Amino acid sequence: MQCPRCHSTQIFKNGRRKNRQCYKCKQCSRQFLESYHSWSYSNDIKQLCLKMYFKGMSLREIERVTDIHHTTVLHWLRQAQSTRDQIAKT
Ligand SMILES: [Zn+2]
Repeated sequence: MQCPRCHSTQIFKNGRRKNRQCYKCKQCSRQFLESYHSWSYSNDIKQLCLKMYFKGMSLREIERVTDIHHTTVLHWLRQAQSTRDQIAKT
């Protein structure tokens, strides 16, 4: 976890809002929801990206189509590899 403004990792939990964890930066006092970060795209989007990848699209192609950064997709791929059942269902 990093602050989206100053990239400090000095952040702390600041309650929950709409079922999402809220954080606050100790350095610049910026408040943000975890949804600010790419790992909280919806599961549907995630599954779609993984599906495209396994159909043979490259990470860059997926990035062009979905506007999701290729490192985010790569992160999901790594996750999926540790929970293989997600892949098997697609
Ligand atoms: Zn900050």
